[in-house]
Amino acid sequence: MISIAIDGPAGSGKSSISKIIAERLNIVHVDTGAMYRAIGVYAKSLGIASKDEEKLNSLMEDITIDVKLIDGNQHVFVNNQDLTDKIRTKEAGELASDVGTIKSVREKLVLAQRELSKKMSVIMDGRDIGTNVLKDADVKIYLDATADERAKRRLKDILLGGSEATFEEIKEKIIQRDYQDKNRKLNPLTKADDAILLDTTNLNLDEVVSAVLNIVSEKIKD
Ligand code: C5P
Repeated sequence: MISIAIDGPAGSGKSSISKIIAERLNIVHVDTGAMYRAIGVYAKSLGIASKDEEKLNSLMEDITIDVKLIDGNQHVFVNNQDLTDKIRTKEAGELASDVGTIKSVREKLVLAQRELSKKMSVIMDGRDIGTNVLKDADVKIYLDATADERAKRRLKDILLGGSEATFEEIKEKIIQRDYQDKNRKLNPLTKADDAILLDTTNLNLDEVVSAVLNIVSEKIKD
């Protein structure tokens, strides 16, 4: 079994890259951001604010969170409710970033993520995979790109999806999210000492995929 940890800031391409690598290597992609998003969205549906630590603590005590592969795609269930279609909004990303600052939320999700990696070969992407969740991962990669480039990529996706947004608005949100993710007390976003930094600012998707595959084959043969 192998485990690959991919970390990096919002919009660095972690999920798209991990999905492709998982297909190429025939292993499972675990998108941990989707799990934080699902908790944020579920809490909101119960009227719990994303920064209400007390209420979130009691919610986490008796919640179940499951990640299942359906037709090759990851689905996230909270209390048996499939929230996959509800977590891809900008708001869900912000709710995720808030609930991700809370200890009880992180503990429960990290436990579930480690369990998944014990059962199968995974490529897991997030913010704290190499530094915390899978400290012993066979391969650790930290993907980065300038805020301008990440905002450009996000804007393209949003416009392609038929929604509207401005570059400045998206860049501002990206900078805010970077700040919150890098400066929170618990498992902030940072490159693990033994992770390989891959700056994707001037690379297209195919180039990033080959760079990651090269790193993986170098590491695995050791
Ligand atoms: O990667 P994605 O944009 O889906 O992540 C949403 C938010 O969830 C991040 O901004 C981060 O605050 C939180 N997160 C986290 N730890 C992870 C994955 C995501 O704190 N492993």
